[in-house]
Amino acid sequence: MQITPLQDWLHTVEKPLLISGPCSAESKEQMLETAAQLAETGIVKIFRAGIWKPRTRPDSFEGIGTKGLVWLREVKEQFGFLTATEVANAQHVKEAIAQQVDILWIGARTVVNPFSVQEIADAIKDTDIPVLVKNPINPDLQLWIGALERINKAGITKIAAIHRGFSSHEHSAYRNIPMWEIPIELMRLYPDLPLLCDPSHIGGNRELLAPISQQAMDLNMAGLMLESHCNPDVALSDKHQQNK
Ligand code: PEP
Ligand code: MN
Repeated sequence: MQITPLQDWLHTVEKPLLISGPCSAESKEQMLETAAQLAETGIVKIFRAGIWKPRTRPDSFEGIGTKGLVWLREVKEQFGFLTATEVANAQHVKEAIAQQVDILWIGARTVVNPFSVQEIADAIKDTDIPVLVKNPINPDLQLWIGALERINKAGITKIAAIHRGFSSHEHSAYRNIPMWEIPIELMRLYPDLPLLCDPSHIGGNRELLAPISQQAMDLNMAGLMLESHCNPDVALSDKHQQNK
């Protein structure tokens, strides 16, 4: 894989790279208030928000859709963050790029499907947009690498991987079991590929955020993606794992 180092496209050498913001964009007020609080910390570089949400059951909140992209742009203009959102198909890519989203990520449910990843790869060809690739929900390192390769073959060298844990029917304290040996193997195979950790989706609750983040830092991962919400108790998705 041909990889551009993080510092060359983020113009910073700070470590860890911190990405934070709500699981889902819900309202303009929620986006701007969350961004204001994150800006105050002075350590967050990238503001994330899900616009289209892949939910397990169809009667859950499936994301605010296109109008949330306008709020994301306002966050960028007001606070100077780079912005990131999840894309799952070519239409999402087109709309996100049209609204000047800076960074795209591909979610765990999409990474399991090579047809979907290829559709996204085709849609971003000839753009220079950075792409973050989460691990697939099942513990399959080859599938994760395959998705990274598809994006890379589309000419995207500003690429990073995100470890968000793996789904299992086993009873566990984690929402998604970390299986640290899998991201460690990815780092061994691709030492130049930046690897971030998403403790929110691994832990599934606020109490686990600190220990998982610490573990990721101990493994020398490049950064963290942490969900945050100005009022997490009323969040429309993933409320137990979002922090204030
Ligand atoms: C998210 O980041 O909000 C998300 C849906 O993540 P994942 O794809 O890791 O489940
Ligand atoms: Mn979430």
